[in-house]
Amino acid sequence: MRLVLVGPPGAGKGTQAQFLAAHYSIPHIATGDIFRANLKAGTELGNKAREFMDRGELVPDAITNEMVASRLEEADAVNGFLLDGWPRNVAQAEVLRAMMVEKKTPLNAVLEFSLPDEEIVARLSSRRTCRDCGAPSVGVDKCPTCGGEVYQREDDKAEVIARRLEVYAEQTAPIISFYRNEGLLISISASGSVEEITANAISALSRVAQ
Ligand code: AMP
Repeated sequence: MRLVLVGPPGAGKGTQAQFLAAHYSIPHIATGDIFRANLKAGTELGNKAREFMDRGELVPDAITNEMVASRLEEADAVNGFLLDGWPRNVAQAEVLRAMMVEKKTPLNAVLEFSLPDEEIVARLSSRRTCRDCGAPSVGVDKCPTCGGEVYQREDDKAEVIARRLEVYAEQTAPIISFYRNEGLLISISASGSVEEITANAISALSRVAQ
């Protein structure tokens, strides 16, 4: 299964991605997580990405696309992958399409999670993230997954959330019609319990050829 997840920040893509990647036995490739791991490790890539991430802007395509291209070359991605957070603009979607044409491995589906703006803001401003495992949580002092320390991501602060939503509307939302035109788009609601959304996603994806 070669799958792309699209949706506004806070739609729960990362959480769903983990379940779906386990269900289909494919690697979960999340560009935001890769950038954050590089920030934490103080790599050159992390230092280049930091100023864009802290402002809620997209990291330039040249940096991001190269990072994803090399990740997709790793052995675990040969038979499928789940991309979470890339592509995030039409230029990135064109790069992915060219890569898949070259490898003769077309995408199976693009799954869109939709959520009203008010709900996005409420979710992001209360979201905390684990410093150790990256899991999101709400209203707890310690990470419910691993017991690590939780913090508020710089880009989950109110001023940056507004900019991320603008960036989503201006740059990312256009890839939804791009993929609709390609006949790949499946849309589901991101409201409801984690279990309900996973069940809806798997049911929608079961109608897609693998
Ligand atoms: P996320 O965890 O997916 O919300 O990503 C956090 C931040 O990482 C974004 O706000 C961007 O600054 C950067 N980022 C993640 N994916 C991409 C991408 N595909 N293109 C450019 N920047 C990205």
